[in-house]
Amino acid sequence: MAHRCLHLVLISTPIGALGSGRGGGVELTLRSLVQGLLSRGHRLTVIAGAGSTLPFSDSRLELLEVDGCDQPSWQHSDPTADITIPANGMLPRLLERALTHARQVGADALLNFGYDWLPLWMTPYLSIPLFHLISMGRESAVMGEGIESLGRWDQRRLAFHTARQAADFALPAPPRVVGNGFDLRQYTFRPTADGSLGWAGRIAPEKGLEDAAAAAAALGEHLLVWGLKEDAAYAEAVEASVPEGTIEWRGFVPTAELQRQLGGCRALINTPKWNEAYGNVVVEALACGVPVVAYDRGGPGELIQSGTTGWLVPPDDVAGLTAALNRLNLIKRQACRDWVETHATCQVFAERVEAWILAGLVSGDVSISTSL
Ligand code: UDP
Repeated sequence: MAHRCLHLVLISTPIGALGSGRGGGVELTLRSLVQGLLSRGHRLTVIAGAGSTLPFSDSRLELLEVDGCDQPSWQHSDPTADITIPANGMLPRLLERALTHARQVGADALLNFGYDWLPLWMTPYLSIPLFHLISMGRESAVMGEGIESLGRWDQRRLAFHTARQAADFALPAPPRVVGNGFDLRQYTFRPTADGSLGWAGRIAPEKGLEDAAAAAAALGEHLLVWGLKEDAAYAEAVEASVPEGTIEWRGFVPTAELQRQLGGCRALINTPKWNEAYGNVVVEALACGVPVVAYDRGGPGELIQSGTTGWLVPPDDVAGLTAALNRLNLIKRQACRDWVETHATCQVFAERVEAWILAGLVSGDVSISTSL
């Protein structure tokens, strides 16, 4: 149990409903954190898009839903794009509901999961502390400015999933890195598997599926692919780039099914083309005992212990991927699970987030007159 029980208002992503998959890894992050923080005695209100679901209920957990149009995703915008908020936008509605509710119940703090400029910008002007778990790297100039500007005002309000993600931003102090967390009861460890190669994630260019498909094709193997086809034209182009039948589309499946199918794989291939903030699917595979062969780029490059839980290869080196896939016999599946149990459970994640928020709630000498 925590020393001090907090009432926290968690603001979900303004893209899709929780459970839809449209929010990407943020959905799992939020669910894991809810679980970990509840187990540490905190009271939570989640503000999320209409139709959201949480996979558990608790007397100290409340879900409030908000209707509205999705924000455009920054990872699919031009890096120099201006800020856009659509009419009937979900983002301002989420913030309005969160602030109103936080004031009504006397919440201790708000925790924002959305990657957007508005909540960053408004933070210094609020009487209630607003914290931000940043879910991506520097996807645009305006977002970079927003994060760096807030960091100059009071960097304690910012946390990142990995140091590599945080390195995208010019911050006055070393970043607060909180990793991510997973409910290991949901991931069955499979000590042996001689099955297929797998790949999981949103089917979108920044995820680099084409390289994993090329590596599987070079080995004459199938590649099982799980995830939402965010970009249908891209998915078709990837399929056309490899011999027919190389890719076996498995669709977007809930966590229980994903881990069941993924756990039978010989390896997960992870080939990000961007500075992936963390890489949930990497850790989900490791939790099942599945080694990961990945590019040494972004979060996966920080999470995978090359030679112990998988292999890291130079970014964009497809021949390096195939060579590494031939060295899987050197990786012990138990070591993969062990790493997750030590570094990435809901509990350790919640402890890190709790420590971050408690440190940020101690009054500092920040003042908006000397900032922004
Ligand atoms: N995912 C899922 N079902 C699928 C494929 C993916 O639930 O069929 C989830 C996966 O568990 C992970 C998320 O989608 O939590 C993808 O997160 P990741 O951090 O890998 O990438 P992001 O989409 O956030 O860029």
